[in-house]
Amino acid sequence: MIKFKILTAYPEMFPGSLNHSLIGKALKENIFKIDTINLHDFGIDNRKSIDDEPFGGGPGMILRPDVVEKALLSITNKNHLNTTKIYLTPSGTLLNQRKLGILSKLDEIIILCGRFEGIDQRAIDILGFEEVSIGDYVLAGGEIAAQVLLEGCIRLIPGVLGHPESLLEESFSNNLLEYPHYTRPQVWEDSQGNKHDVPEVLISGHHDNIKKWRKNKSVEKTKKVRTDLLIKREQKQD
Ligand code: SAM
Repeated sequence: MIKFKILTAYPEMFPGSLNHSLIGKALKENIFKIDTINLHDFGIDNRKSIDDEPFGGGPGMILRPDVVEKALLSITNKNHLNTTKIYLTPSGTLLNQRKLGILSKLDEIIILCGRFEGIDQRAIDILGFEEVSIGDYVLAGGEIAAQVLLEGCIRLIPGVLGHPESLLEESFSNNLLEYPHYTRPQVWEDSQGNKHDVPEVLISGHHDNIKKWRKNKSVEKTKKVRTDLLIKREQKQD
């Protein structure tokens, strides 16, 4: 069972979206476990503050390193600080499918969710957090980012997906985006009265042709929207 320990100022945001559908089922079946650690329990002074103003000036507040350390030590100990620890931040290394695959094989992952302007850099460096971003945009806090990382990771654990073969050809496997899908009705008449067929090859029953068509569509789409993936793919084949 993979254990996620989440350091957060908003523990009530968990399990959140992870309590639903196939991931929610996996949670109920103890395929993974989420423990939340409330940063406010480790706040200082009477007000239990967890943040302070940035040295050097500037807007916003910064999460204090002593608070992060106390929260971390409540779940590890000084001699056992070598579990994988991730701080979610827009300035981290971009998360991708390969990284999710690596994470999904671990026994325990500690995730630190930021808020405000971010976290004192000493906490990240000294306590050994790897900085990971879920995309080139800025959210208000790390909790939704953590749920994105967890969901991506959990669906890769054997037994979680109803059809594990869907992992084989989905987007990013082999540096390609997935081909388009179609279902019933075979001819869809939209609200304007226009009729739209599904591509004929998909109802031909000819498996080799379907495979070829899907591969071509995958390459076509990847070329159109993610040439960076195609370049990676070509470099790998060289
Ligand atoms: N001042 C920071 C910067 O410019 O990089 C942004 C801080 S953001 C408002 C607050 C918190 O949200 C961050 O500490 C981080 O935990 C989380 N966050 C926001 N965007 C994220 C992203 N793209 N990936 C991962 N975490 C993110």
